[in-house]
Amino acid sequence: MLKFVVREHHAAHLHYDFRLHMGGVLKSWAIPKGPSMNSTERRLAIRVDDPLIAHGEFAGIIPEGRYGAGAVVIWDTSSFEPLDDPEAALANGRLSFRLKGKWLTGEFALASLGGKGDRKLCHPGKDVVTTEVMKRRRASVSPPVPWQDFCKSAHRYPAAGG
Ligand code: MN
Repeated sequence: MLKFVVREHHAAHLHYDFRLHMGGVLKSWAIPKGPSMNSTERRLAIRVDDPLIAHGEFAGIIPEGRYGAGAVVIWDTSSFEPLDDPEAALANGRLSFRLKGKWLTGEFALASLGGKGDRKLCHPGKDVVTTEVMKRRRASVSPPVPWQDFCKSAHRYPAAGG
C-alpha cells in the first residue's frame, strides 16, 4: 500500500506540500493553491527536493530562522493507488493516481507543462467531489487567529525542526 501526505505549510508563502511515497522516497511537490477538487481547475505543482521520510510527515511549528519556518498541519494522509507504473509514468510526464484520503478522494494527475524545469499541473479527474470539501477542510485546520500570530504563541504543537 502506497501512502500520500498533503500538508498545509504556512511558510513565508502559504503552499501545500504534496507528497507521494514512491520507490522508497517521498516525491514532493509544492502546490501554492493546494490541490483542487474541481475537475475544471488545474493547479501549478512545483517539484521540490525529496524530504527525508522522517521529516516529510512532520506537523508542528518550524522555528524562526529554519528553512520553511512557520506552521505545518497535516491536511490529509492515506493510501493512493497509481493507475500506471509510477516511475515510468513520471518519466513520461504524466502520473495518474487515485487518492483514497478522508478529504482528498478520487483520481488525480500530475501532468508536465513542458519547457524548462519540472513544472506540473495537478488536477483531479471527473469523479472527484466538490470544492465544498476543500473549504470545509481548510476551515477545520485553521486556528482562531492568523497563522503568524498562532506561531508566535503556539503551545498546541511541540516546537521542532522539520
Ligand atoms: Mn513546504
